[in-house]
Amino acid sequence: MSQAPETDLAAFQAEVRAFLDEALTPELRRLTARQAGVFSEGELCRRWHRILYEQGWVAPSWPKEYGGPGWTPMQRFIFADECVKAGAPVLPAMGLQMCGPVLMLYGTPEQKAYFLPRMLSGEHYWCQGYSEPQSGSDLSSLQMRAVRDGDHYRVTGSKLWTTHAHYANWMFLLVRTAIEGKPQAGISFLLTPMDAPGVTVRPIISISGEHEVNQVFFDEVRIPVGNLVGEENQGWTVAKALLEFERGGGAAASGLRAQLRAARAIAEAEGWWNEEPAFRLRWTQLDVELLGLDVAERQTAAALMAGRRVGDATASRLKLTASTLLQRITELGMEALGAYAAVDQREALGMDAKAAPVGPAYALTPTAKYLNSRAATIYGGSQEIQHNILARIILSS
Ligand SMILES: Cc1cc2nc3c(=O)[nH]c(=O)nc-3n(C[C@H](O)[C@H](O)[C@H](O)COP(=O)(O)OP(=O)(O)OC[C@H]3O[C@@H](n4cnc5c(N)ncnc54)[C@H](O)[C@@H]3O)c2cc1C
Repeated sequence: MSQAPETDLAAFQAEVRAFLDEALTPELRRLTARQAGVFSEGELCRRWHRILYEQGWVAPSWPKEYGGPGWTPMQRFIFADECVKAGAPVLPAMGLQMCGPVLMLYGTPEQKAYFLPRMLSGEHYWCQGYSEPQSGSDLSSLQMRAVRDGDHYRVTGSKLWTTHAHYANWMFLLVRTAIEGKPQAGISFLLTPMDAPGVTVRPIISISGEHEVNQVFFDEVRIPVGNLVGEENQGWTVAKALLEFERGGGAAASGLRAQLRAARAIAEAEGWWNEEPAFRLRWTQLDVELLGLDVAERQTAAALMAGRRVGDATASRLKLTASTLLQRITELGMEALGAYAAVDQREALGMDAKAAPVGPAYALTPTAKYLNSRAATIYGGSQEIQHNILARIILSS
């Protein structure tokens, strides 16, 4: 794959910035900045999705034939980076980044024709039904049973920690269609509308006070066989391909830098910055480590650009670094707040509550962000699982 000249990338970056300046109204920025969740809340996502869709930029990684902009990995990285810097709402990954590419690879022509345009336009809002009460890290032990009944499956069981299930109108899910043989060999990948009779969504309120995740119960839910993706009992292959799409192209460093700057602004307002050399030392150390993450993310985008795969070791290392830095940075934000460590304390800190946020996103919510980020070393593959992957790679090399 040929490299785009630097000047083209600079022009592209300027185009993205000009668009974001225009499209991100003060209201959208303010609403985004007040949220601490992994993704922005549903209504905000729908609004931002629509704006990006109309611009033709909502699915940066999709090929042109399916309505994507046909960007290179480096353009995708620049776009993601500029969005974070500008404080744009964070769209959920479940549809466009997870289910979409899987359908392109394994979907029937009918499934592609029906689902992909609706995913792109935002008419369908997706959630991911993988984890269950007894199956998370060891996903292949999942128990949700799907029994074939004519041209339908009857599905009973429950899914846990389902992000944005309360906003979604569709779910992709893994079910057990066979109990004999290896656990991986009896799994199938299905798609269901969330308003199918027998589906119940129960909220789980997180420690930060937000409603992001849910438990979803299935009671004899009928899912048409036409909504099976890939072959019956081949769902593990499909599920693994989906996890591959999650890798690479991320731009976590910019968002983290915004939060680190917010911690400094609070410390300055509170007087710690000048009085506490230990605070400044920790801040500087995090700043340097962030630079390392930034370089690693850019190198990953460059590797993808050159047509190379992102290996397990790189993916695990990036996930580990980004999630632990997030936790340490939000911890510093809490320390900077000191006795004021409660949600949205700009006014209490004597800062102008109406002024532009200190950092683009999350600056108003250090405490909520701190609490929310405790989950970062669990979702998307826990810290221990990433350590296991790295250990296996090192020991077998
Ligand atoms: C905020 C949030 C959002 C989520 N969103 C979704 C979603 O949208 N859809 C979805 O399907 N799932 C979702 N999940 C679930 C997530 O994928 C699981 O929580 C995760 O895979 C861990 O599984 P578990 O919770 O069952 O913990 P377990 O797997 O039971 O792990 C418990 C502890 O044991 C450790 N452990 C487990 N196995 C090993 C091992 N082999 N070696 C060493 N240590 C081990 C783990 O690291 C962890 O510390 C979400 C989770 C969270 C917290």
